[in-house]
Amino acid sequence: KTFEALNLHEDLMKGIYSVGFKKPSKIQEKALPLLLSNPPQNLIGQSQSGTGKTAAFTLNMLSRVDPGLLTPQAICLAPSRELARQIQEVVDKIGQFTQITTHLAVPKSWARGKRIDKHILIGTPGTLVDMLSMGKRIFDPAQIRVFVLDEADEMIALQGLGDQTVRIKKMLPAGVQNVLFSATFTEEVQHFAQSFAPEANQLFL
Ligand code: AMP
Repeated sequence: KTFEALNLHEDLMKGIYSVGFKKPSKIQEKALPLLLSNPPQNLIGQSQSGTGKTAAFTLNMLSRVDPGLLTPQAICLAPSRELARQIQEVVDKIGQFTQITTHLAVPKSWARGKRIDKHILIGTPGTLVDMLSMGKRIFDPAQIRVFVLDEADEMIALQGLGDQTVRIKKMLPAGVQNVLFSATFTEEVQHFAQSFAPEANQLFL
């Protein structure tokens, strides 16, 4: 299998080549056709770090936002600021030939009076809850199309992060594509994943 077979935008192909990926990793080969299908479908994927999952959900987010619309259209949540920052680096690198911009949504990264005109928000749950508590003043949640949760097991293990994720999800439109990755699937994670991403395609490696 090749990246060429995935029908990605040429600007994204340039991004892939620029980071030196020659062919999709196993998870990318399986997840990308599911993620990119239209109409969009939810995905629950099992994947450890090191498998290439970040690039998989990154290519999906970059494929689904409209660069002409200067408002957030995708949200990616991670259990730590450090991981969020690492994801942002990947999105920026693979998206460098697009007009798509990212905002790291961590504490102090935003101001109460200032709208965010970046396309993709990558951050931690608490900050997104704070932003959304301002109503539409920071960004309009109705424009969100993709909601990605990375390391869901870590998220649930950390006090409050799972609940905050649920609160955020309730403020997003019904038609959002929900994508969840987790390294482990205990019963608790499985239960959380089912409610986060109902009727999802499931990918267990
Ligand atoms: P992740 O599982 O997202 O943490 O990615 C693990 C590592 O694999 C990162 O250093 C990526 O740069 C690398 N990687 C991801 N996809 C590919 C690919 N298709 N070919 C080669 N390396 C990749």
